[in-house]
Amino acid sequence: MQSLKTLLNERFGFAAFRPYQEAVCRAVADGRDVLLVMPTGAGKSLCYQLPGLARGGTTLVVSPLIALMEDQVAKLKSQGLAAERIHSGRDRLSSREVCRQYLLGKLDFLFIAPERLKVPGFPEMLSKRELSLIAVDEAHCISNWGHDFRTEYRMLGQRLPAFRPTPVIAMTATATPLVQDDIARQLALQEEERFIHGFRRTNIGVEVVEASVGERARIVKEALSLRVRRPAIVYTPTRKEAESLAEELASVDTTAAYHAGLSASDREAVQKRFLAGEIAITVATIAFGMGIDKADIRTVIHTALPGSVEAYYQEIGRAGRDGKPSRAILLHSFFDRRTHNFFLDRDYPDPAVIEKLYKALSNEWETRAAIFKKVSKDPHLGDDEVFDRVLQKLCVHRGAESDFDRGEEGDFEERIRRGRAEWKAPYVAQRDHKRSELDLVARFAESHGCRMVALVRHFGDQEDSGEPCGICDACAPNKCYVRKFRLATPEEQVAMAEIVGALVERPNYAVGRLYRDVFEGSVIDRDRFEDLLGALVRARIVELENDEFEKDGVTIRFERASLGAEAAKAGTSLSSVEIPLTDKRSEKKRSRRGSRPVRTTEGARVEKGARAVPPWLKRRAKSAGAKK
Ligand code: ADP
Ligand code: MG
Repeated sequence: MQSLKTLLNERFGFAAFRPYQEAVCRAVADGRDVLLVMPTGAGKSLCYQLPGLARGGTTLVVSPLIALMEDQVAKLKSQGLAAERIHSGRDRLSSREVCRQYLLGKLDFLFIAPERLKVPGFPEMLSKRELSLIAVDEAHCISNWGHDFRTEYRMLGQRLPAFRPTPVIAMTATATPLVQDDIARQLALQEEERFIHGFRRTNIGVEVVEASVGERARIVKEALSLRVRRPAIVYTPTRKEAESLAEELASVDTTAAYHAGLSASDREAVQKRFLAGEIAITVATIAFGMGIDKADIRTVIHTALPGSVEAYYQEIGRAGRDGKPSRAILLHSFFDRRTHNFFLDRDYPDPAVIEKLYKALSNEWETRAAIFKKVSKDPHLGDDEVFDRVLQKLCVHRGAESDFDRGEEGDFEERIRRGRAEWKAPYVAQRDHKRSELDLVARFAESHGCRMVALVRHFGDQEDSGEPCGICDACAPNKCYVRKFRLATPEEQVAMAEIVGALVERPNYAVGRLYRDVFEGSVIDRDRFEDLLGALVRARIVELENDEFEKDGVTIRFERASLGAEAAKAGTSLSSVEIPLTDKRSEKKRSRRGSRPVRTTEGARVEKGARAVPPWLKRRAKSAGAKK
């Protein structure tokens, strides 16, 4: 076996390994199963390509998108490697030729889409030779718990065992610990080595801004008005919004919309022109992104709350691949949660509706059309789209089995029959999981601490420093594009002194409790309290920690507050604490927390707070109180 370093220099033309690549390549070359989770752009492909070459023979690469496959094959070919692909976009003749080359042992890499393994005869053809490595790219697609589950990935778990003991490397940029476990289980990885690395992006400053729907277009326009903040991607929740915002941004710079409603050729044109720098702003739905490799994207804006932290992290990860300072701006409000709930109810129908279709299935194989006919009178299932969605859920949770008739390649008729009765519990679990993803992303948006630290923790990065990033809206309020701050008023300083005072007496104070104990019934309502608490966190006078408990089988998440690093420092002053400028007090449902009735007993409370604070704060509190 040639040394890995030599292969890196000579076959790939790279001078050095990127962080973690060498360790991963070694494990894979040694025949270990590997689960690799690193962000997009980190260089995961090399981690199967190089050991694949080192092991000799053919590496099978499973990839979800034709565009990704084409891209990778072209790259490998340009490096003089023998790479080929088989997918539905190619004619039979070329596919047959690829198989011939494979059987002759001429291929270093063979790329396929997962559904290819369903094609009768194809796995048998592959088995005629021993594969040297199997690489599963975008492996999160196999998991129900991931944010981009694909039904075609499901069968990998059933098909891969036939190719063992060939080692498997599963790669993804996006997998929480839960998804990591699921990938390993479903692919039946054996004593796999896990590499979970590099989630911290040091050059992306994340800024989260509460904004009503009506003001978002204006904010986006202003944020992107400076030349240095482009190229940019703006993510909108719907196609319609992508279209209308693109129109509005046309006055700023060359702009195009991108969404799944456009034709494939239109989409490709937008993508090409954006990559080539002919379009400065792409306004897109989440359809835009997988495989986008553009180094100089300066800003990524979300005009609404994303569906999960994973999706959010993936999308902002497209900014600043060149390592230069970049910005990610998230606009959100309470309203977004309602929209998400609407889509959730649509995409994850009531189990009772699914049950109806389950009962309509037969133990004999039937075509989709035959089944649809049986339920077409049903108020829910009679709708074509709903029917497909429900059937898909049943297949995923094995309440239905689907198979393909043997037929002409590329021209199969799917048949379906009833599956196991135990589909319900996993379906309900998945539905609940989707809802909890929404909770977590809403919680991320409403949190006060360093944004990058919150993201990195979410992914369970094994060796992150935990240090604040220094550039997000929490770490560097004065660098914000959109959020505006002002100095705390004397009254606010008094109220903050009360918070600090309470924490001196009781560290690890549950935040809800802290509010109730100190402010309930005062002029400080819960939203105002959160603003003040957030300001203290940004000033590092207070620290928050996530905690949770189980109640009636439901996980209740909450935060605990303690004094932070700056609290004890001489010279720390509450008068320099910055409070976010929000002029949306009139927007009633500002947060998920209801406001409390107001009672003015401030004077007495100032006394209580002042007693508890350290000397440097006490002075502040008194003088602030006096000015009032
Ligand atoms: P990922 O799959 O993790 O998103 P890729 O494998 O597509 O990332 O790699 C991103 C880019 O980094 C590619 O252009 C690749 O050629 C480049 N790259 C990977 N490893 C190295 C290396 N060791 N030195 C220089 N460039 C590298
Ligand atoms: Mg990749």
